[in-house]
Amino acid sequence: MKPRYARVIVDRAIHRELDYLIPENFADRLDIGWRVRVPFRDKAALATVVAILDESDASGIRPIEAIVGEGAALSPKLLELARWMSAYYCCSIETVMRSLLPQVIRRAEMSYKKQLFVRPAGALPHDAVEKLRNRAPRQAELLAAVSKLSGPVSATELLRQTSLDHQTLRGLEKRGFIEVREEAIERDPHADEQFIATTNLELNAEQNAALAAVEAAMQTAETARPILLHGVTGSGKTEIYLQAIRSALARSKTAIVLVPEISLTPQTVERFKSRFAEAQDMVAVLHSRLSEGERHDEWHKIQAGRARIVIGARSAIFAPLENLGLIVVDEEHETSYKQEEAPRYQARDVAVVRAKLETCVVLLGTATPSLESYFNATRGKYQLVSLTQRVDDNQMPLIRIVDLREEKRKAKSLTILGEKLHRAINARLEKREQTILFLNRRGFSTSLLCSACGEARECPNCSVALTFHRTAARLSCHLCGHTAAVPKKCPACGEDALIYSGFGTEKVEANVQQLFPKAVVRRMDADSMTRKDAFRETLRAFRAGKIDILVGTQMIAKGLHFPNVTLVGIINADLALHLPDFRAGERTFQLLTQVAGRAGRGETPGEVFVQTFTPFSPSIQFARHHDFAGYFEQELEFRERCDFPPFRHAVLITVRSAHEARAKFSAETLARRLKESLPDEFILSSPSPAPLEKLQGEFRFHILIRGEAILRLSRLLRGTFGKLPLPEDVLASVDVDPYQLL
Ligand code: ADP
Ligand code: ZN
Repeated sequence: MKPRYARVIVDRAIHRELDYLIPENFADRLDIGWRVRVPFRDKAALATVVAILDESDASGIRPIEAIVGEGAALSPKLLELARWMSAYYCCSIETVMRSLLPQVIRRAEMSYKKQLFVRPAGALPHDAVEKLRNRAPRQAELLAAVSKLSGPVSATELLRQTSLDHQTLRGLEKRGFIEVREEAIERDPHADEQFIATTNLELNAEQNAALAAVEAAMQTAETARPILLHGVTGSGKTEIYLQAIRSALARSKTAIVLVPEISLTPQTVERFKSRFAEAQDMVAVLHSRLSEGERHDEWHKIQAGRARIVIGARSAIFAPLENLGLIVVDEEHETSYKQEEAPRYQARDVAVVRAKLETCVVLLGTATPSLESYFNATRGKYQLVSLTQRVDDNQMPLIRIVDLREEKRKAKSLTILGEKLHRAINARLEKREQTILFLNRRGFSTSLLCSACGEARECPNCSVALTFHRTAARLSCHLCGHTAAVPKKCPACGEDALIYSGFGTEKVEANVQQLFPKAVVRRMDADSMTRKDAFRETLRAFRAGKIDILVGTQMIAKGLHFPNVTLVGIINADLALHLPDFRAGERTFQLLTQVAGRAGRGETPGEVFVQTFTPFSPSIQFARHHDFAGYFEQELEFRERCDFPPFRHAVLITVRSAHEARAKFSAETLARRLKESLPDEFILSSPSPAPLEKLQGEFRFHILIRGEAILRLSRLLRGTFGKLPLPEDVLASVDVDPYQLL
């Protein structure tokens, strides 16, 4: 046989593909997408096969050492997707591969959990147990138990039930009465849950039209555009996803459902598992809280084709499903679809690209479309489908704006709950209805100031104030996790003049409990939810009506249904507005709309109080009137004026170093080089200190570039970086379509 070669991408970033000889013993098996172990420099390395070649002009070719795992870990389509990501997001293909394949699959060190199973060895003579009784009474007892079995049973279970030991089991095996075999078992994260099958609900007219649009797109997938499903909260979007997936299955296709990690609750998973309960394996779940073993098993369940629906967070967009018919991206506007480390991809956008490569339909659902997606819809790039009514015909909640400036004048100090919100809570307590209070900031006091010298306690590693946490009785940095003891006197001037200022959820909880001593108040944020089951338990208690007031961060803003919640208070709507970020207004609008959607999902209409110092800001006013279109118009105008997305793409370069001067120098050099190499169509901003000047001990400088042709810009950037070696202690990162401009 003629020798053949495999071109591979080695896991370690070397920015080159290498050729290896395929040994004869696996020449007929090895194919594109398989994982192999190859000799690399003087060590072995793991790699992915990206091409099979009949010849290679590389010199000193060495043979592949071994195959890792069985079958292709990546389909040719996923490889193509990886190449696109590498080119678009301006990062190495090896980095992309690390996101595409979970570590447990890449390393292939873990395999299925094995267990011993026992079964009868063929038909037993009817007197076998009797005959054995005298010679080996314990073996006889075990045999009697085995003979009653209808199928194989786990050895551990059998021995536990009969109180017999392993030696007896092996003795019986030796006599040839039973078979003991090691078999793989699956670690199913939902094995101990029962899913009661549900059937399709009867859709209302708007839902029917939406489903029809998705089905029509599936008929003509080659030419179909992505569908943007804009439906108010409670309009029954999930029901449409479920029925659209049913349609995809009926066409022998598979489906991926992306959900923001924070919304991937047991409740959500249950809705999907129950609708597709006909086969145990039908729905696989992928998210960051799985154990490595569970992830391994879920992934193989997908790869082997047993799971036909995958529901998961961001990286589930890379699920190795064949024959994709539908990709759903729920809450498409969610910023958590953006990965904040390399590869800095946006899963919603990757979903649109994957759908194109796989000729499948992509459905983006949300109550508050991102400006980018809505813009695409108004330009005809996406197809817009709207749901304007809540399924239960409930009214949209009434949103009232509370002017904190006025409240402050009245109370002469910073208030947490204004008078109006206070009264509204009282009324709810009397009626035994529930309240949610929302504040997007953890901790007790947001800073510790000295009233004598004005110094605030800052993080030594980051340029932010430390937050005081009362339960932990410590100061802590929310960016790097640094903690410090609370000083008695100001460490800067020595005066005994420290004052706490600003407040977070911990203080809201304490304050509310003090104002309403009889109410049951609970807090839900990253600090109070450290225990694994705390989240689930709190939600259950809240649903059961055992909590009157739930205080929390964005953890409680998303996708939860509580029919008895009739009041939502937004303690401070301005937090996001003051971030130095062109998306600040958009985020505020989305957040208000999402949080407001939590109110009044039952019989009683809901009421929302929005406390703010900027009552006339457009994002607050438009959210108040549930006017997405109006909001969109004015925000778009602002973006166009400033050359921001969706009119231009943005690329953010961050240059950082522990040495401030070196970071600055490198940023300036880089900016100069970019100025020389980038054509005029790209708008290059001069390097400037990042809004967050120091983070985790490093000084940071930003260069912002805006333009339309991202693939071209990425290529040019790669070229510039290639020719500009940065000093060893300076790092630069490129973020295409950035979300954080901090
Ligand atoms: P959304 O995802 O748009 O917020 P959901 O799909 O969660 O809305 O629907 C809200 C509630 O209405 C759910 O309890 C769902 O079961 C129910 N629902 C959805 N569609 C229908 C329908 N056609 N008939 C009756 N109930 C429905
Ligand atoms: Zn810090």
